[in-house]
Amino acid sequence: MTATDRPLVVGTGIAGLWTAWRLASEGHRVLLVTKATLQDSNTAWAQGGIAVAMDAGDSPALHAADTIAASDGLADPTAVEVLVTEGPARVRELLELGAAFDRGPDGELRFGLEAAHSRPRILHAEGDRTGAALVEALSRVVLADRRIEVLERTQVRRLVRHRERVVGAILLDEGGEPFAVSAPAVVLATGGVGQLFEVTTNPPVATGDGWALAHAVGAELSHLEFLQFHPTALRIAGVNPAPLLTEALRGKGAWLVDARGERFMLALDPRGELAPRDVVARAVAIRAFRGDVWLDARHLADVEAAFPGVTALLASHGLSLARDLIPVAPAMHYAMGGIRTDLAGRSTVAGLYAVGECAHTGVHGANRLASNSLLEGLVFADRAGREIVADLAEIPRPPASLSPAATDLDAGADQLPEALALLARMRSILTREAGVVRTEPGLAEAEIALADLLARAPSGAWRTADQLRVAALVARAARGRRESRGGHRRADFPNPKPRRAE
Ligand SMILES: Cc1cc2nc3c(=O)[nH]c(=O)nc-3n(C[C@H](O)[C@H](O)[C@H](O)COP(=O)(O)OP(=O)(O)OC[C@H]3O[C@@H](n4cnc5c(N)ncnc54)[C@H](O)[C@@H]3O)c2cc1C
Repeated sequence: MTATDRPLVVGTGIAGLWTAWRLASEGHRVLLVTKATLQDSNTAWAQGGIAVAMDAGDSPALHAADTIAASDGLADPTAVEVLVTEGPARVRELLELGAAFDRGPDGELRFGLEAAHSRPRILHAEGDRTGAALVEALSRVVLADRRIEVLERTQVRRLVRHRERVVGAILLDEGGEPFAVSAPAVVLATGGVGQLFEVTTNPPVATGDGWALAHAVGAELSHLEFLQFHPTALRIAGVNPAPLLTEALRGKGAWLVDARGERFMLALDPRGELAPRDVVARAVAIRAFRGDVWLDARHLADVEAAFPGVTALLASHGLSLARDLIPVAPAMHYAMGGIRTDLAGRSTVAGLYAVGECAHTGVHGANRLASNSLLEGLVFADRAGREIVADLAEIPRPPASLSPAATDLDAGADQLPEALALLARMRSILTREAGVVRTEPGLAEAEIALADLLARAPSGAWRTADQLRVAALVARAARGRRESRGGHRRADFPNPKPRRAE
């Protein structure tokens, strides 16, 4: 059993790595844990880039305006202001720490333009390896810092709350043995929830653990209904996560076709395949349930030469853009809501902080502006780190006597066929009823069905039970919002309600 008076940081995506580094840079010792390896996170998969207003002609005010416009009326302007004004300083620090963003022939940083950004402001690293390159750079920094102890293959099983505070956690080591850690502050940086859906771009670690952990100790979660789906991911049974098929393919003229080989987008929107992301995602989702939607690029000249990355990816599955129809489906991509925090990462329970994708800071509102999430991870992780440093002197010493309970043992119940079957059922229910398009009866049924699945979870299958609980929270949140806004589409309430204070 281990006891510690170090802050505990959970997760090694951009948000967890940065929090740990910030705490250490302020002279504090940190325990940083991650349930798989340093390479397993949504961050490591980020292909696009990081948005930051640093180019000539750009400004934080312009970045804020784009962020608020994308949010469909729900972004918190104060949080957005923090994001865009503090972002440049964090990116400069990233550069100092060794992040190698791509530069032009003149040696200056190269800023790319992305949909819904009014200025070029997206930094990339090694082209489409931005996330992996960031993880490599920050992992090097963290591993080299003697004040940071890193434990891979170490999973937080549950948080420990003592009176009004979170005072530590029960963790499982690589062999599944539970141990207790007391900590003056616990920072959840556990990332996304994509694995609760049938098709997702998120890696296997993205099972919504942070939401389950925070909810179990009474922390408030908010805006869980706002989920972003990518319209065209490769749909092949057993390929998880689902690789994205870039929108540039449709930009080049690839079609979306149904089982009869007919283009269906033209009947829905005059822009056809180039209609906005959410319009395409809805059309694709409806057909994907029947398993009959494909991307057809066979008529495009030299398409394989134009898309070498996609071509190589498809070749590994025996497919060719020039020869085959490519099966696609919308993929759960990003969660805008999460553990509700203030601007310093504090959750509604003392001692518990949340940063990155698992948190709801208010910067994204109902819809995330592309490439703002890595920046959010940096900016708010930094604030949480500084806040914890400022608070440490005031924080009561945690009780040193935490210990695991018999129920914390991992006897492998989550691997039982009946537990795996429950999760498969959960993914199907959530995808169908709380996916791209939702309705009142569908969500009501989903809530009942998910409660039934939870009641049937095998004893000791706590990972399964946690995912079922999070799925139920998503369905409940989606049912509670009787309007369509941003990433939340209700077929029975197709319009946004007049904006009210939230
Ligand atoms: C394919 C893809 C492309 C993307 N492209 C972009 C992009 O171009 N630009 C952009 O801004 N965003 C992009 N995103 C989104 C962005 O990558 C994420 O929002 C961001 O990286 C989240 O960072 P994070 O640190 O909050 O979480 P993550 O990077 O997901 O890290 C979570 C960490 O928590 C650990 N963890 C989880 N549960 C536990 C537990 N119980 N115990 C211990 N450890 C745990 C995980 O193992 C992992 O290390 C993309 C996402 C995907 C999937």
